[in-house]
Amino acid sequence: KIARSEAGGEDALVGNVNKLMVTPRGYTGVPRKGHLVFDACFESGNLGRVDYISEFEFDLFIRPDTCNPRFRVWFNFTVENVRETQRVILNIVNFSKTKSLYREGMSPVVKSTSRPKWQRLPAKNVYYYRCPDHRRNYVMSFAFCFDREDDVYQFAYCYPYTYSRLQHYLDSLERRNLDYLQREQLGLSVQQRRLDLLTITSPGECPEKKLVVLTARVHPGESPASFVCQGVIDFLVSQHPVAQLLRDHVIFKIVPMLNPDGVYLGNYRCSLMGFDLNRHWQEPSLWAHPTLYAVKQLIVQLSQDPKVGLEFYIDVHAHSTMMNGFMYGNVFEEEERVQRQAVFPRLLCNNAADFSFSNTSFNRDMVKAGTGRRFLGGLLDDTSYCYTLEVSFYSYMAAGSTAPVPYTEDTYMKLGRNVARTFLDYYKHNHFIDENKELYDSLACSTASTHPWRKMRRTSMKLKIQFDVWREHVNWRILTIGTS
Ligand SMILES: [Zn+2]
Repeated sequence: KIARSEAGGEDALVGNVNKLMVTPRGYTGVPRKGHLVFDACFESGNLGRVDYISEFEFDLFIRPDTCNPRFRVWFNFTVENVRETQRVILNIVNFSKTKSLYREGMSPVVKSTSRPKWQRLPAKNVYYYRCPDHRRNYVMSFAFCFDREDDVYQFAYCYPYTYSRLQHYLDSLERRNLDYLQREQLGLSVQQRRLDLLTITSPGECPEKKLVVLTARVHPGESPASFVCQGVIDFLVSQHPVAQLLRDHVIFKIVPMLNPDGVYLGNYRCSLMGFDLNRHWQEPSLWAHPTLYAVKQLIVQLSQDPKVGLEFYIDVHAHSTMMNGFMYGNVFEEEERVQRQAVFPRLLCNNAADFSFSNTSFNRDMVKAGTGRRFLGGLLDDTSYCYTLEVSFYSYMAAGSTAPVPYTEDTYMKLGRNVARTFLDYYKHNHFIDENKELYDSLACSTASTHPWRKMRRTSMKLKIQFDVWREHVNWRILTIGTS
């Protein structure tokens, strides 16, 4: 039985540092305040190793995804036993990706026990560069000043959204006893965690209901997807008139966490057994990919049910190199179907300032053939649409603005609410698309050439200058790096 606590159980220990006190090499004296204690043995935690470089500098290693060393992106750990005004540089030295939004100003998130709301570190304290000391891997360094001795500080790649948090949220929804909300256990993960399915629709028989299926967190490190998904759910169960109207005409089936083990374990991309579940839609195995197997079975079943018209499948992800919210869709031969497929993203673009139609693209790469979008795009009939909804780990550029706006937990959720209400726009208009040419014109919200986020420049080297503030206090080894 899995303990429902943020502290996690035995499973969360695998490969993570466990209350590790890092002292200078050869140090044999008593532990002192300022000998930092690193810990990642909690739910969604990830930190595999810490090397002492100097009093001011530590090399940190991400623990690779369980059973798959290729993926090293998500980190989430605590630091305690700090001295007041202690300044450090933490270097994350083993990222598996090179292209990163760190070049565009993204920074890790931080909170502490006395300031429990997550915030992003100032971009000027973050430096992303190729490091000769680490086989020219990309290293992300950030400077930080601890300010309260009794606080435990927590740092993460992005705002965490754990399995337990989802369970608490779903429990609280259930307690409201809404007659239009049903929660079921669709299956269990390899480690026996719940695969939850929500059905949201007005009770009673209605002859002509459309069906929308939404899934999230197939990639466990993509925590923004959970905030978006919660935004969708919050809106759909609300008393908002649009939500009421939608519930009368549409059945929403939502699987908020497709890969609960991966989320619990602090993986970035994979399941417990090291599978990227979003590459196994063609032939999921009941024992190796049980949650995917269950979701696929559900969707196939729904697609064959003559009583409901399965019209949308949307899989929510987060993107590590692009800005804004945007979508991936499929490629079709018939122009008319291509046009129809573009309608929902265009409508969403009207409703959400952070959603970019110009970043939205349609493809048929071989490498993505095992994704839900591609597989279901082939399976479902030509009146249905399958999309991947992506949202940036970092920020969005609203039309007309010049600076990127970093996403918060709230703005991720807001995107979810906007996705939900866009279904009404879609269903109001979808019968008139062919006749109403002006609808298309009025929806032309963005073009590839005119939007500012197209013009973003990479500025990683500029960050070097910002470190001068720290000159008196830190080991400046890193300043000599990355500028050649
Ligand atoms: Zn993803």
